[in-house]
Parts: sequence; structure tokens; C-alpha cells
Amino acid sequence: MATHVSIHPSVDNGITPGLKDFHGGTLRCHCPSRQVVVKIDAQTAHNHVCGCTKCWKPKGSKFSMVAVVSRDSVHVVENGDKLHIVDPTATIQRHACRECGVHMFGRIENKNHPFYGLDFIHTELSTEKGWSAPEFAAFVSSVIEGGTNPSELPAIRARLKELGLEPYDCLSPPLMDAIATHTAKASGALAA
Ligand SMILES: [Zn+2]
Ligand SMILES: [Zn+2]
Repeated sequence: MATHVSIHPSVDNGITPGLKDFHGGTLRCHCPSRQVVVKIDAQTAHNHVCGCTKCWKPKGSKFSMVAVVSRDSVHVVENGDKLHIVDPTATIQRHACRECGVHMFGRIENKNHPFYGLDFIHTELSTEKGWSAPEFAAFVSSVIEGGTNPSELPAIRARLKELGLEPYDCLSPPLMDAIATHTAKASGALAA
């Protein structure tokens, strides 16, 4: 057992399964007042923990937890004036609260991108229970770029496996296949 290895507060005590009849909830930033409020009116998909250095993480966490949802389901309902785009040149434009730094949603504006139409959200910002459970771990080796000692990686991967979160150093095979299929259709290597 490697329970002493902390991955993310939402998975460290085990994974809570999602609910079938769950249709979304409300995300709130961490400001003590005038919180940015984003309503999501759908269940999420492809929830996972991510070791990259771009995703928003709670303090002290090595991994973020991030899921996708159709961009039509994402509605900024309060204090949207506090949002700014962290890096306008990044593929995923992360809309964050400029006061507390929490990322409220990440959006892809490039219509040719395989994931165009999907927004990235952190369901831990909601108090509702039933969001889709994390299914795998992406960009695990990237935690080193965030300052984790490489010697810790075997224990981190062991803990992820113990939690049922298969560790990958890119995205999961179904998502990598989806990206490659999109690329192959765009190039004509596969029939569109
Ligand atoms: Zn805030
Ligand atoms: Zn990430």
C-alpha cells in the first residue's frame, strides 16, 4: 500500500463513483466574497487527474483533477467580470478568477482542434455529489516539471494504480486515438 502518497484531495481517500442521473451543478471560485459562479447543466466525461503544469491544482496537490463537458453546458452566472484568460496563446484558454487564481473553465477556440466544443472543468469546485469519477491519470511524468523529485515517481505510479487510475504520460489510449483519428481524417489518411 502506498496510501501515504498524496495525489489529489478528491481521490486520496478513494474514488467516489459518479451518479447515472446527474445533470450538473454549480462551480464556485475560492474568493471569500463575490465568488465567480459557473453553472454546468450536464454530466462531465473523461474525468481524470492530470500532472501537467498548466491545469489548476489545489494548494499542495501534485495533480489537478479535470473533466470535460460540452461548451454549451457552461454558463458564467455571477461575477464573470473577475475572469481573465491565463495564457491567451495556449491551446486551452483557461478562464481564471484574477483574485483567487482558481480556473473556472478551459476552452479551446481553434475549431480544427480534436477537442473543439469541449470545455475543461474542475468538478471539485462544486458541492454537488454525482459528477463522473476520475478514470485515469494523464501526464504523470510531468509532475517532475512541477518540482516533484523523479525518485518519487515509482511510488506515485503505484498509488495511482492502487486507486484504479491507470497512469499515462500523455492522455489515455481512447483520447489519444480520438486525436489521431481527427488528424488522419484531416489529412485524408482515413475517410472522413
Ligand atoms: Zn475568486
Ligand atoms: Zn493538465
